[in-house]
Order: sequence, then C-alpha cells, then structure tokens
Amino acid sequence: MHKFSRRHFFKATAGIGATVSLFLQQKVHAQHRGAIILCSRGEAWGRKVLQPAWDVLAQSNNILDAIETGTNVVELDPDDMSVGYGGLPNEEGVVQLDASIMYGPTHRCGSIACLENIKTPSSVARLVMERTDHIHLVGEGAKRFARMHGFREENLLTDKARIAWLKWKENLSDADDWLPPAEGEYAEERTNGTINVLGISADGAIAGITTTSGLAWKIPGRVGDSPIIGAGLYVDNEVGAAGATGRGEEVIRMCGSFYVVERMRAGLSPQEACEAACQKIIDINGGPAKVNFNDKFIAVNKKGEVGCASIQAANGQEPELSYISQNGFQVVKGRHLLD
Ligand code: ASP
Repeated sequence: MHKFSRRHFFKATAGIGATVSLFLQQKVHAQHRGAIILCSRGEAWGRKVLQPAWDVLAQSNNILDAIETGTNVVELDPDDMSVGYGGLPNEEGVVQLDASIMYGPTHRCGSIACLENIKTPSSVARLVMERTDHIHLVGEGAKRFARMHGFREENLLTDKARIAWLKWKENLSDADDWLPPAEGEYAEERTNGTINVLGISADGAIAGITTTSGLAWKIPGRVGDSPIIGAGLYVDNEVGAAGATGRGEEVIRMCGSFYVVERMRAGLSPQEACEAACQKIIDINGGPAKVNFNDKFIAVNKKGEVGCASIQAANGQEPELSYISQNGFQVVKGRHLLD
C-alpha cells in the first residue's frame, strides 16, 4: 500500500528543492547585476506600474510581491481597455480575463483563463501556483477558486467598454437587426493590449506575469497566449524571462516566450532573441506578405540586459519597454521587423 503519501513526498522533496534552489540562486547571483523590473509598456504606464513594484521590492526583496503589486495597478485601472477591470469584452459583451505567473527559483507557475468578474486575475494565478498542485484553472472553476480565497465578484464591464462593444455589435453586419444610432457611429478598432511584467530580485530570483482581457470581441471561451506557460510567459532562473503581447494564436503555435528564453540560452542577447521570435512567426506564416497582424516580445536575461521586438511598428513607433533599476526609470526602444 502507499505508505509514503503525496503530502509526505512534497515535504520530503521540499528540502532537496530548497538546496537545489539555493545552489541555483547562488549560481545566478554570481552573474547578475542587481535588481530590475521591466514591463511591456512605455513612459506613462511604465512609471505607474514599475514605481510601486520597485517600492515593494525595495522593502521586501520579494520579486513576486513586487511584480504582482505593479501588475495590479493596470488590472484595477478602468482606463486601460486591454487588461483587467475595464478590458474590452468578448462577442457577447462579457469580460473574460487570462493571466499567468512564473517563478524561476522553483520553476513553478500558475495561470487562469476565461475568468469573469474578478478584477485582479494575476493574483488568482499566483494563488493557483502557491496554493494548489495544479497550473491552469479556467472559467467557472477559476472563479469559484478565487471566491474561496476571498476575491469579490464585481462587474468588470465599464461604460466605456460596453459602448465600444455596442458600436462593434451594431456596425458588424447589414444583415442583422442591430442598427447603429441615427447620427452614425463607427466601430471601434479592435485594440491590442496585455501587459508583461518581468523582474529580478537583488539575489537573482527571476519572475514574470502576463495579464490581459485578450482579443476584443473574441468567441466566448477563447483562450489566448497570455495564460499559456511558454507562450505568453516563460521564466527560467538559469537564463532569464520573456513575455508576449499581440495576436495570441501566433504566439501559442510557436511557443513564443519559451522560444525567446531558449534562444537566450543558446547565446543570443534579449534583443536578438525577441527579433528571432518575430522572424519565426513570419517564417511559419509563409513570409512577410502573409502577415497582417502584430506580435511583440520583451525579454530580460539573468544579467539584467533587456530587449524587445515586434513584427510591425505600432502607430508608426518602434516597440518599447520600460524598466526600473537602481539607476532609475528608463524607456528602451526595440526594433520592428516588417514595414
Ligand atoms: N496576446 C493577447 C491575446 O491574444 C492579446 C494582446 O496582447 O493584445 O489574448
């Protein structure tokens, strides 16, 4: 019979894990240049997200607390229409959120998908990682799990997002019974968004979060790349971390963030690795002429070097990321591959 229970197994191996993790941390520590937190946004959101994250890191040296704090800022802000509260809904007007988190020293991760009515999906993903033996919870089960942990159910559809959805719905087709208002209104562009927040603590622990409301007007139940470990997010304490935004289906089918981290392991810089991932997407689609969407990657290696690349320029601008370190806040421009 099973004398050695699963719980005992975890207890027994925790000691070995701690020793291995200490060894890994010491190895990493030898090569990295101090704490850094970065995100996939530029000046305005970058400062709002990274300063509180940095303050938490300075007080606690806990990289998970730090990146969760920063991420929650954008998840809770109704003005951001691509993440958390205020995110654009699915085709039925329901906001469904995806998020993931990964922690390098233990190589553990957690994620949720199609989560409704909870404002901070990254915090729920963290609890999946820390308080269950699962990695991925979806839909109703994810919501019940969140409620068990004390999260309140709230309406995530702001008026701004509801009106954008209504305009899309009313302008969708001439062959249905929805009519736009008499003065005429144009359908909103399908906006992209998502945020990746990656960080390294002073003692070399690497972690990351990706969170999103996903593709606007998506089919209910659609899961994007953001909660798929290896697609929208990947962290390896020996190498670094990467995150993706943009058309998730493309990132899923080439395991985007895992690809970026593995290219860094093979010796590429974060910038080169992000460009290689964009090129891979172009190649598997059959070349530049076939690519009418955008994806972007950001990455950091264990030395604290950063990079970002996208397939297309967004609004004529190079892709960017921002980071904060002991030298302060900085915005970094990357490179886009197709004109
Ligand atoms: N990657 C997200 C998704 O496909 C969307 C985005 O980043 O805009 O769900």
